[in-house]
Amino acid sequence: MDIGPYTFEEFKAKAAAFHGYPAPGLLIGGYMVELARRHLPEGTLFDAVVETGKCLPDAVQILTPCTIGNGWMRILNLGRYAVTLYDKYTGDGVRVWVDVDKMRAYPEARSWFLKLKKKADQDSDRLFREIEEAGETICSLSLVHVDDRTRKHKSMGRVGICPICAEAYPSSDGAICRGCQGEAPYGDAFGPVSGQAAVHETAQATAQASSGPRLTAVPVAEAVGKKALHDMTRIVPGESKGAEFQAGQVITGGDVCRLQTMGRAHVYVEQDTPDGFIHENEAALAFARLMAGENVTFDETPREGKLNFRAARTGVLVLDRQRLTAFNMVPDVMCACRHHGVLVEAGKDFAGARAIPLFLAAETFRKAQAVLSAGPLFTIAEIKPLRVGVLVTGTEVFQGLIEDKFAPVIRDKVERLGSQVVAVDVVPDDAHAIARSVGTLLSAGAELIVTTAGLSVDPDDVTRKGLLEAGLTDMLYGAPILPGAMTLLGRLASPAGSARVMGVPACALFHKATSFDVLLPRLLAGLEIKRADLAEMSEGNFCLNCRTCVFPKCQFGK
Ligand code: ZN
Repeated sequence: MDIGPYTFEEFKAKAAAFHGYPAPGLLIGGYMVELARRHLPEGTLFDAVVETGKCLPDAVQILTPCTIGNGWMRILNLGRYAVTLYDKYTGDGVRVWVDVDKMRAYPEARSWFLKLKKKADQDSDRLFREIEEAGETICSLSLVHVDDRTRKHKSMGRVGICPICAEAYPSSDGAICRGCQGEAPYGDAFGPVSGQAAVHETAQATAQASSGPRLTAVPVAEAVGKKALHDMTRIVPGESKGAEFQAGQVITGGDVCRLQTMGRAHVYVEQDTPDGFIHENEAALAFARLMAGENVTFDETPREGKLNFRAARTGVLVLDRQRLTAFNMVPDVMCACRHHGVLVEAGKDFAGARAIPLFLAAETFRKAQAVLSAGPLFTIAEIKPLRVGVLVTGTEVFQGLIEDKFAPVIRDKVERLGSQVVAVDVVPDDAHAIARSVGTLLSAGAELIVTTAGLSVDPDDVTRKGLLEAGLTDMLYGAPILPGAMTLLGRLASPAGSARVMGVPACALFHKATSFDVLLPRLLAGLEIKRADLAEMSEGNFCLNCRTCVFPKCQFGK
């Protein structure tokens, strides 16, 4: 049976020329493609979807204008030997697949297709004969509609230059290209070379740069009168670890014994920084200046090559996670940091950075700086005191049948962060009453309204309805936080402009730490909280319910 305009033998030759050898799958693929094409209306401009990466895509490329490169063929590797040709404007098309049931009349082809025989036991001549005889009769087809998502050709979007490899890449991939994010399969890259002979030299130079310059160590006794090249640490188990000698410190005769008791027989003494390298202290300082944003301070003198970052004010750590990762993908540098969104008290350290080797290769230094050049890695969003209105809902509480336990819990947590509760209102489970109460609290000057309870799926739980009646906008209901799944966030127009709203579910009565504790600092710091922000928090937001709660010194809320 012919394959389109070709005889079987002609197509076999074409397949061999294109694919390297006339693979049986490619020959069957030829029949499949032609079968699909015959069922498309004459003159249809079509694209292709192939469900396997093996052989079949080449049949499409030999017989149609659709190729991987021009984007008219897509491989969606579903592992099935099937091809779909479809109208590129409407998505209507024909899917053809190998029907194993119809293959029964062709045992050699079938056993090849299902891998029932070892390759050595195959009868190739018979296999090719069967494939030719069978032609398209071993295929089935159906009419399909290809969805928009698959049909749309994704445009590449904005193009950036990767600060590490200096090559162009889609900016949507992140701060550095995916190759430099670790997806490239080449191990250490050797940089550009202009000729064959240069390859070896470049490789050597790269190896040397990553291992650092050659330093000469001096026996301790000969170091007297010279300056220490780097901080030296005495480690006493169980005691504090600090720099016993600092970089630049002159080593005296009396120090020889001290160094020896620290277990040092040789020391590095000060020397000029070798060409093409940056001293660790200089590197750390340069990084720190680029990393620190608003309300972040650090000592100008690195300790043991490292600089720590401190909050100048109490606030919420706002971290550019993507670029923190990009920075740490650069070899020979590091920055470790507390989690995005945590509360950091004024004067407390929250991050540290350093160069790993004593002398950092200038090229590496440049790359690391390039990653940092787009703006600071971290800022502290200052916590500002807000006037808080507490709205307690619950008919039983309103009627005095049970005592409200919520307001004191909320008041305590709010006051601990420096804010003040300006009004508490208790209303029954009634949407109108809730809406009216919201108005009262806003008039009392509330900038943040915290409602409690009434947020579950119970038909009497009407807090959400009441808030919407009061004009709630930007509502987020439900959060990936346990406890606290039924959390509500939103905004209300107020006489003073705008007020934030947080609905705290009943779990806040029984658990020491819930979504309220996690989100309150962010609200007080004036941070936007969007669906994506909540989604990003999901990892870690599962409370361990420890017998003794140590929140925030645990993974919860990070
Ligand atoms: Zn790159």
